[in-house]
Amino acid sequence: MTHSIPISPIESWVHKKISAPGARLTREALTRYQMARVQETLDHALERSPFYKKAWRTFAGKKIKAPSDLHDLPFTKPEDIQNAPLGFLTVSQDEIARVVTLNTSGTTAAPKRIFFTEEDLELTVDYFAHAMADFVSAGETVTIFMPGDKPHSIGQLIRDGLNRIGVEGIVAGPVSDPHKACGLIANTGAACLIGIPTQMLHLARTHRKSAAPGQNIRSVILSADYVPRSMAQAIESAWGCRVFDHYGMTEMGYAGGVACRGECGYHFREADLYLEIIDPASGRPVNDGEPGEVVFTTLTRKGMPLIRYRTGDKARFSPHPCPCGTVLRRLDPVLGRTTGGMSLKNGSVLTLPELDEALFSVPGLLNFTAELSGDSENKGETDILRISLLTVPTATATARYTARQQVAHIDTIIRAMDDGALSLAELSTDCRPRGTTGMVKRTFTDNRSPRQQIWKR
Ligand SMILES: [Zn+2]
Repeated sequence: MTHSIPISPIESWVHKKISAPGARLTREALTRYQMARVQETLDHALERSPFYKKAWRTFAGKKIKAPSDLHDLPFTKPEDIQNAPLGFLTVSQDEIARVVTLNTSGTTAAPKRIFFTEEDLELTVDYFAHAMADFVSAGETVTIFMPGDKPHSIGQLIRDGLNRIGVEGIVAGPVSDPHKACGLIANTGAACLIGIPTQMLHLARTHRKSAAPGQNIRSVILSADYVPRSMAQAIESAWGCRVFDHYGMTEMGYAGGVACRGECGYHFREADLYLEIIDPASGRPVNDGEPGEVVFTTLTRKGMPLIRYRTGDKARFSPHPCPCGTVLRRLDPVLGRTTGGMSLKNGSVLTLPELDEALFSVPGLLNFTAELSGDSENKGETDILRISLLTVPTATATARYTARQQVAHIDTIIRAMDDGALSLAELSTDCRPRGTTGMVKRTFTDNRSPRQQIWKR
């Protein structure tokens, strides 16, 4: 056990929040607290939320004493919120301080609307104040490349949390102009950046440490997207900093957990959220160490409590303790979505995370798009994979060559090519980072069926 890694500050915060006795938090005390809060949340939702009152009425009087008591409760699905968001409110609309509308990419589904009271937002600010203490100290500056133009938006909540620990948070918003963004980093001497993964990669690859902006950067916290390890490594080597992954979603109250300095997955705000990992097909819980779908229950949310909400994200609890020594659970890095792969003609499934891991290690690569189409000359028996790369201007030719090598080494692609089910078209490259070109989300498009599917990141 390494003793040079400090215990995650989230532990002492959770310990204090739940008023548990003893010098250190124990797992037993935390589970006891969580079960009591799940019970309160369930009773409250069944009494006040029109959705739960109607759909879950047979669970009125249900007693929750142990984690296994949750297993026969149904799940709350994203569609339930899409269908009737107001049905989840347990307070009057006058008490709602912020409404977030979430559009689901690539589908025609109605947007999800998530509601927060002032108290709910305070929980998030308090979390940021404690979680960020692991990365920055009083007197330092953090540049926040997250949306922050509206009151109570994520950028502003992070800034407010930082202010409480004496750290200046500068809300810059998502990057639209890389030169301007780098100028801001250089001028403010930021010790830490918070941003969207592909955007931070773009800055790191177009403005390396030698070009000054990155000189003070000790850590970069990536959020709002799944983070391929190859991308984190590319940012670390460009700026000579550490990259940490933050996992959260609006439904969780923006924030969920952040990677530990022990580099062993995330520790969660377990006083506010109860997490489970389930088999997405059967809905049964899986053992620690086995991957499944992340499901959470809110424990302290006032305006819109969610019970057993299915995130669609794939991850697993590590069965091993964290090197930092905390009793908090370790959620290993998110492995992508439980759905979203493209079925190939030989029955295997190619996923965006597989392409991510292979491609973001390519030097000079900034972003990419991938597309599957049918091969009309081959009676539709073969699929064609076309990949377009966006690179820095000096890396176009080598990136195309290296990317092709990398993609041809993806197991799923090797098998499909061996089975004669897939061919790989020549990779194309674009090196003109005009305007926001490099800032778009990457896509994986299926052009084979009449009903086109697009997976965006
Ligand atoms: Zn840890």
